[in-house]
Amino acid sequence: MCKFCRFRKIEGRPINEEIDCAWVNSESGEICGLPSKYIVGYAYVEEHLCPAHTQMEKAELKTGLADFLDAFGFGGKTRFLKIESSEDTCDYFDPLAPGSECPQKATYAKYVEMEEYFCVEHSASMGYSPGEE
Ligand SMILES: [Zn+2]
Ligand SMILES: [Zn+2]
Repeated sequence: MCKFCRFRKIEGRPINEEIDCAWVNSESGEICGLPSKYIVGYAYVEEHLCPAHTQMEKAELKTGLADFLDAFGFGGKTRFLKIESSEDTCDYFDPLAPGSECPQKATYAKYVEMEEYFCVEHSASMGYSPGEE
């Protein structure tokens, strides 16, 4: 947890367009596909990173990966925010290389802002349920 972890936000509004729900089941990889009811904007700290891995992820965002994500509508805004003093270690690891966890202190928070369309049920599972505001 760093000070930016508190800036988690979630907001939404009803839409009138016909767009499929963007929810993806993280286990099966299936998409929901029901008609969306809301556009949900959310922001959160995805990872805490050391300087070296911050540079690496910045470089990755500039190359093909980001273009790929944009093309499929997953493009969000990503910012790297400096953490003044941190007790966290870097969250980076390479899923293809077991044991690659980074031992360095995290000095940056990778802060991601996204907007996606969801059906009523999945807006709620993202944390947005207008009835409770
Ligand atoms: Zn690292
Ligand atoms: Zn859904």
